[in-house]
Amino acid sequence: MILDEDSRNEIFQVSIHRAHELALVFDETGLIVYANQTAEDKLEYGLDMLSSYIWEVFPSVFSKTGDGFASECDFDGTDRQLDAYRKNRTCFPVNARLLKGTGVVPFYCCMAFDASESNMLWKQVTQMKQEVGSADQMKSEFVASVTHELRTPVNGILGNARELAGLENDPEKSRLLSLIQRGCADMNAIINNILDFSKLESGKFLLEKRSFDFRSMMDYVASNHRNKITEKGLEFTMTISPEIPESVIGDELRIVQILNNLLSNACKFTSVGGIILEVVKTAQIGDRIELFFLVIDTGIGIDKADQDKLFRSFTQVDASISRRYGGTGLGLNISKQLVEMMDGNIHVESEKGKGSMFSFHIWVEVPDDLIKEAPAKAEIPKTAPVPEDAHPLIQSLLDVKDNSRIWEYGSEENLEEINKSMSKLILCVEMENWEKAETFANTIKQLTEEAPHEIKSAALRLKMAVQKADYDKASEAHRRMQELTKPEEKGK
Ligand code: ADP
Repeated sequence: MILDEDSRNEIFQVSIHRAHELALVFDETGLIVYANQTAEDKLEYGLDMLSSYIWEVFPSVFSKTGDGFASECDFDGTDRQLDAYRKNRTCFPVNARLLKGTGVVPFYCCMAFDASESNMLWKQVTQMKQEVGSADQMKSEFVASVTHELRTPVNGILGNARELAGLENDPEKSRLLSLIQRGCADMNAIINNILDFSKLESGKFLLEKRSFDFRSMMDYVASNHRNKITEKGLEFTMTISPEIPESVIGDELRIVQILNNLLSNACKFTSVGGIILEVVKTAQIGDRIELFFLVIDTGIGIDKADQDKLFRSFTQVDASISRRYGGTGLGLNISKQLVEMMDGNIHVESEKGKGSMFSFHIWVEVPDDLIKEAPAKAEIPKTAPVPEDAHPLIQSLLDVKDNSRIWEYGSEENLEEINKSMSKLILCVEMENWEKAETFANTIKQLTEEAPHEIKSAALRLKMAVQKADYDKASEAHRRMQELTKPEEKGK
């Protein structure tokens, strides 16, 4: 295709005149003989652009000499960063490329990109880098403050050890020894947390996979906390669903670590009421089972607004709380990461001043010889009628009841289930967590569907009192239900 003059002009108009780049063409005297629209706009010249000289636009690299110009630039088309001056003598940065025309009439050309925007982006990137740097700085400061925290128990240990050495056969000796042990335990917990955290952060953390006795592990966890809980005058109950096989394969140490963290927090932040630890099997796929753990306390609770922050590292809800209760704010973050490595997740429901419920699920394997006890096919047993409006937590609890005897009023499983729901309900009533109490009331109602009329209507009254958030009536209805479902009333 051969282009005529008009077409060439049209192409020139579209491609150069309206290009994003500034285009300036100047002659041997430095006089600008062509400027595209962008150059005129950005340099804020009008028609007088064409009576201006190139050194007025780029004074740093062009200068006037006799009837020509001098330039320190090579016209070889390489990019240069220059400042382009507007008519009003303000300037902006450009990436410029200078070329020399080799036609009959010599000419020079400058194509330039306005770099203000990219420079701004660059500045933002630099600023972001600095911010990342300051986050690192915060991390280092955190490590420094933890080290500082470590110093206190270390000094305690040293001072006491010194004193102990000078006290032969002194009754004071055992008191000091226990102080030493306590200091050591505190120190170990903090150091282990820091080590775990940095390992998890750097992706160097691996889970172990060993067979272990599940109930012994739970007993061990409970024994770690029972004394402290009862010393504080709190109630402690632990329930393990009978469907969980006696041994499972997983990382026992890490499961213990998660439970220890949740239980020690529950104990730390509770001064009246009690703590419940519960675990049920919620699903099975081949040789893998899902375990659902629940740690409920009636402690100080956590503001809704703070609940999101809980699982982030170094977070303690309130500085005054951390001063009063101690800790590094790493426990829940580590727990969350561990739970996720076990293909699960962790969740909190809490209300300020009423208590907290931490729940998490994880997947573990079942040893070959025990698989037969569980349904062979990959499925979540769903034989139990789960109330449609039940709280998701309750639904997940009920999902595992593949034993239809649970719904057979008067059976051992049924009464056990009623009992459990009743204890949870009254705890929720005490905490005035009516929404949750209602889900338990619904469950109780379902569990007593086949019961004698008197019990059924007591369950209904309980549900209604809870729905009305009537503390006195709910407590009374609960007491009545308890009377009616006492062992001697069984199967009535
Ligand atoms: P720490 O190791 O300092 O205890 P955690 O990550 O375990 O850190 O907990 C972080 C913060 O979450 C605690 O300092 C506390 O403010 C809040 N928290 C955790 N568990 C509870 C709970 N059961 N009741 C009330 N607040 C809690």
